[in-house]
Amino acid sequence: MAKLMQGAVPTIVDAIGGTPIVKLNNVVGDIESEIYVKVEYMNPAGSMKDRVGLNIIRDAEKRGMLGPGGTIIEATSGNTGAGLAMVAAIRGYKCIFVMPDKMSAEKVDALRAYGAKVVICPTAVEPSDPRSYYSTARRLVEETPGAFYSNQYHNPANPESHFVSTAPEIWEQTGGEFDVFVAGMGTGGTLSGCGRYFKEKNPDIQLVGVDPVGSLYYEYVKTGRLTKAFSYYVEGIGEDFLPSTMNLDILDDVVQVDDRECFIMTRELVRREGIFCGGSCGAAVMGAIKYARTLKEPKRILVLLPDNAQKYLSKIFSDDWMRSNGFLLETEDEGTVAHIL
Ligand code: PMP
Repeated sequence: MAKLMQGAVPTIVDAIGGTPIVKLNNVVGDIESEIYVKVEYMNPAGSMKDRVGLNIIRDAEKRGMLGPGGTIIEATSGNTGAGLAMVAAIRGYKCIFVMPDKMSAEKVDALRAYGAKVVICPTAVEPSDPRSYYSTARRLVEETPGAFYSNQYHNPANPESHFVSTAPEIWEQTGGEFDVFVAGMGTGGTLSGCGRYFKEKNPDIQLVGVDPVGSLYYEYVKTGRLTKAFSYYVEGIGEDFLPSTMNLDILDDVVQVDDRECFIMTRELVRREGIFCGGSCGAAVMGAIKYARTLKEPKRILVLLPDNAQKYLSKIFSDDWMRSNGFLLETEDEGTVAHIL
């Protein structure tokens, strides 16, 4: 076998990770704390879920759950699908992804581009409804020979991917020199996996989850009550049930953000920081700023930015879409951070 060319990696999967940490300068208003962002959209399939896709497939192969010619089935808001599809493309697996209908067309098209089959389900039904994307994924697993249900909401390989990849990488980059870690709350993989690693290294590091209005996490953490979730527009964060991959016990605080705050901050991150990020990134940064306001002394806050703006061009970055949903008001100069800070 010829030696690999100098400077090359054997496959695109070997290019996962090594994403930069960048200081925010222009969108943080008058807070004294410093906010840094881990730019995970620089992963090859476009999000931090590349790490999850790789770890889930490796783990399934190791446990004999996925073999040659196998089909990976997942209920995904898009990014986990892209991570799985990228790894599957190299290893010869087929993919079927089940998505709620609120997801942007760009996300669906990206998955199809990798050769995956995509099944769209209604968002506005209970998780237990047979039409929900969770129920549909489970049914497809039963019907498909050689199927492996990657099940990111209950698969320990999801948080583990952040424990073995994202968190050690952050620790090495920063030397552990940060006080607060902030991330959006979806499956909880990011917060639970990174959180466990950081707490083991330094129990004083504060873990802060960001939850959109409409999701049940915030109310559950604050009051112990499980409320009924309602629809919201920001994609990838918030849940209408409690996934077992979310370890709420290690969180120190949860901050709530609304769609308008998420989207205006996302636009500002692109326009004023040049960081071409997606809607849950605006959510996470907005949550970090709100949390910073509660602090008595300045801290160094590290925020994880999951994915990029490309998939949201027809939504968050469309003035028409923003206006027609009431996120951009006629009286505002295209909605600058001044209106939400
Ligand atoms: N942002 C985006 C865009 C996502 O796709 C996800 C995953 N659902 C998250 C944030 C939340 O990450 P996690 O699932 O690790 O909690």
